[in-house]
Amino acid sequence: MPLSPSHPTAVSVPELRAALKGRVIAPEDAGYDQARTVFYGGFDRRPAAIVRAADAAEVAQVVSLAGATGLELAVRSGGHSSAGHSTTQGGIVLDLADMHALEIDAERRTAWAQTGLTAGQYTAAASAYGLATGFGDTGSVGIGGLTLGGGVGFLVRKHGLTIDDLLAAEVVTADGQLLRTDAESHPDLFWAIRGGGGNFGVATRLQLRLHQLDQIVGGMLLLPAAPAVIAGLVAEAEAAPEELSVIANVMPAPPMPFVPEEQHGQLVVLVLLAYAGPAEAGQRAIAPLRALATPIADMVRPMPYPELFLPEEGDYHPTAVGHTMFVDTIDHAVAETIVDHLQASDATMRVAQLRVLGGAMARVPAQATAFAHRDSRIMVNLAAFYDGPADQAVRQAWVDDFAAALRQDDSGAYVNFLGDEGQARVRQAYPGSTWDRLMAIKARYDPTNLFRLNQNIPPA
Ligand SMILES: Cc1cc2nc3c(=O)[nH]c(=O)nc-3n(C[C@H](O)[C@H](O)[C@H](O)COP(=O)(O)OP(=O)(O)OC[C@H]3O[C@@H](n4cnc5c(N)ncnc54)[C@H](O)[C@@H]3O)c2cc1C
Repeated sequence: MPLSPSHPTAVSVPELRAALKGRVIAPEDAGYDQARTVFYGGFDRRPAAIVRAADAAEVAQVVSLAGATGLELAVRSGGHSSAGHSTTQGGIVLDLADMHALEIDAERRTAWAQTGLTAGQYTAAASAYGLATGFGDTGSVGIGGLTLGGGVGFLVRKHGLTIDDLLAAEVVTADGQLLRTDAESHPDLFWAIRGGGGNFGVATRLQLRLHQLDQIVGGMLLLPAAPAVIAGLVAEAEAAPEELSVIANVMPAPPMPFVPEEQHGQLVVLVLLAYAGPAEAGQRAIAPLRALATPIADMVRPMPYPELFLPEEGDYHPTAVGHTMFVDTIDHAVAETIVDHLQASDATMRVAQLRVLGGAMARVPAQATAFAHRDSRIMVNLAAFYDGPADQAVRQAWVDDFAAALRQDDSGAYVNFLGDEGQARVRQAYPGSTWDRLMAIKARYDPTNLFRLNQNIPPA
């Protein structure tokens, strides 16, 4: 049933409830506070309604309603946006969490996945067939937001970005139509959603390629945070076979049971790695990393791929500032800068995360998708937790200063790690002709900028 607004700028909850099978959660409902909570703390927004759409038709109804009322529309898959884009003050949250069907075709090695699935749910289900698609490093992140922005994870060097495994998608566009898009149908839309984020519509289902992946050699390796270790680690990770992808976090050691107590709070390199190939070759590939220093802890072993996702606390909502960037090199001097800045801060959690790229990701031409940073060599994500507004300003200044000290020639940024940082930063995610092309496609599929609560690309 089409939903017509009872008032141009209001949403009628009873009308919504009558029209939809999915749950509609309003401010007076018991579950409202939980339903409006997103992963990051600090976004205390009160939507007029949170709609848990039951299917693509209901997504279309909600999109049309948002268009007709002019109410701000927040689209939420896993709720991990660090910019707070998946919640809204006074608008409608379209929450896809109840759309989590997954159809795996093990023979063809493809999956049709509804976008309410998390990376962890998808990965666990695919692993039952000895198959995997690469997402990020955290199980609770939604496949919706992660995939549309690119998707950089533990298989990035072996299989590329998540979008490099995207075969097709179903997208509800601003006019309420459900379009199927792939390389042949609406190819402009298919190009744009591979990196362009939620600007072009609501992706309700994604068809993804699966790879054979029974086991990996992987897990956590904790090394002392000496500049020589950091620079050596990056050099070894770059020289390693593409089966190996490495995410290194230079940070104070968390008080985990396997970390000796005297190390708690000391700067360490917490390396998360995955070798997607035979175990013996994996051990050989990882040996140079282990040889960089006597490991503080070494949990790297053959394991099923889903075990790489660390367990997460249910009610964990950190407040954090961050900065994402790319660098070309982390030599001894850069590593020293990293250690010095981390030592100079007393934030309870502070990190320089280093992700060595290349491999399959770099073989896709820069113009082939809306993710243009194919030649970028190392992603650096800086972050610090804060406690209250005064502390936020201090931590932000530290992050800004740190980023300035690390800046090299690569001025790009990865859209999925951007906060609410303004249009100049969005332009860094979409450089040159990528931006122009995205604006033109935006004008075609969302001329009124209905989908604006995102790293926004204005219609041309
Ligand atoms: C702890 C943590 C770890 C992370 N690790 C990684 C990582 O390893 N690799 C990586 O690449 N990224 C990583 N990210 C970043 C992550 O990819 C982005 O935050 C992403 O936007 C989260 O997707 P989501 O669906 O959970 O978020 P949401 O907050 O639900 O969505 C974010 C935005 O994406 C858009 N969107 C979401 N779903 C849809 C949809 N179905 N249709 C249209 N638009 C949609 C909307 O604009 C929405 O505002 C991480 C984030 C966190 C918090």
